[in-house]
Amino acid sequence: MSVTRIYEIPERGSYEIIVAGGGVAGVAAAYTAAREGKRVLLIEKSVMLGGLATLGLITLFVPMCNGRGRQIIRGLADEFMRLAIKYGFDTIPEDWKQGEPKAPTGQRLKTRYDTGMFALSLNRLLCDAGVDILYDTIVTDVVMEGNLCRGLVVENKSGKSYYGAGAVIDATGDADVLWRAGLPCVAGKNFFTMVLHKITLNSCEAAVAEGDIGRAIKWTWGGNATLSGKNQPQDRPLYDGTDAASVSEYVRENQLVAFERLCSEDRKSRAIVALPGMAQLRTTRRIDGDYTLTTSDVFRHFPDSVGAICDMDHRDYLYEIPYRCLVRSGYPNLIAAGRCVSAAGYAWDVVRVIPPAILTGQVAGLAASISLDTNKNLPEVDTIILQEKLAAQNVLLHFDDSWIPANIEPYSDNIDHI
Ligand SMILES: Cc1cc2nc3c(=O)[nH]c(=O)nc-3n(C[C@H](O)[C@H](O)[C@H](O)COP(=O)(O)OP(=O)(O)OC[C@H]3O[C@@H](n4cnc5c(N)ncnc54)[C@H](O)[C@@H]3O)c2cc1C
Repeated sequence: MSVTRIYEIPERGSYEIIVAGGGVAGVAAAYTAAREGKRVLLIEKSVMLGGLATLGLITLFVPMCNGRGRQIIRGLADEFMRLAIKYGFDTIPEDWKQGEPKAPTGQRLKTRYDTGMFALSLNRLLCDAGVDILYDTIVTDVVMEGNLCRGLVVENKSGKSYYGAGAVIDATGDADVLWRAGLPCVAGKNFFTMVLHKITLNSCEAAVAEGDIGRAIKWTWGGNATLSGKNQPQDRPLYDGTDAASVSEYVRENQLVAFERLCSEDRKSRAIVALPGMAQLRTTRRIDGDYTLTTSDVFRHFPDSVGAICDMDHRDYLYEIPYRCLVRSGYPNLIAAGRCVSAAGYAWDVVRVIPPAILTGQVAGLAASISLDTNKNLPEVDTIILQEKLAAQNVLLHFDDSWIPANIEPYSDNIDHI
């Protein structure tokens, strides 16, 4: 049986820019647009900012440098990394403690951080920037006039409401909004993984001995498949995470495995300090944008680059992200940010991790603002203006070819594991 309901949905507000999703990409987008003087609403389905990087317990800013002492990912990603550790512990390597080192180093700029302090800091940041935030609110529908998005329907304690928007940034991680708007999307695949945070008597002793509480928190696992699929159980499917059954099975089965594993441990020698508050799916749904970044684009320059990024696992492997990865022609006021931008295979992995997700959030916030100021559709935004603003915000747009060793090996053939 199917049911039909006819609702009148009240309009509760109208904004120049609405950001759907308050992960790091959404926060970066909202903050950037607000800094440009725009009226911004951010809608978040949980009650915490940061998404996977806080609520999801993924607490490692992966390397932001080329592996030889040069910082590649800068701008807001650098500001957020510093914010993440400002009021809590860090694991910044010695050579990077005072900023970019004067001499080359093999140590990579990366850090762990306190998820709770980062989430609280992001809330403070957006409040100070004047962003309106709707917590505990899920975007359930888009109101379209052709391919123009008029606004979003949300559901929360007040029931269903409608918010009008001049431009909408999809930072849901899953392209939920753009997919509903009819923009072509592509589903990904996920190995079986669940990260939990625990403390043990031993880790607490080490923390006390070193006077560093960060030492007490350990990652432990449900499913423990790696990024490349190592440890993926033979009898488990790959999950795309784009429908209720897939997400629920992924969460349920990972929790069962974690439970079994933890039950075999001495109950008085360890405690779980946090379970993930969202499904830890890496690549669910992303847009099929005007350009799709692939591993064959490594070392390639793009005239419309909105930021250089580095491969987190392979030193010296550098990319530039073309603006076209965030938009799709024909959709005038919609843009993607974070892990749902257009990239494929291992290049999707490189683009979706925390620092690049912040970068594409920053780009989306600026682009939406420029689009409104210049009366241009988002896919046609003047990338020269965008690049000037990004450069002024300390984003490195292009890497230098002299940073790439002459004898560098190509990626191995099996790098594209998804
Ligand atoms: C197992 C695993 C390990 C990882 N390891 C690392 C690592 O070590 N280092 C690293 O840098 N990156 C890692 N990543 C990747 C990284 O965490 C994410 O890709 C990145 O944080 C994505 O940020 P985002 O803002 O794009 O999306 P998300 O963090 O997914 O944020 C999306 C936000 O949107 C909200 N939302 C979703 N739908 C709606 C809706 N309909 N209405 C309202 N709100 C909505 C969600 O609640 C969430 O807050 C890992 C990811 C996984 C899953």
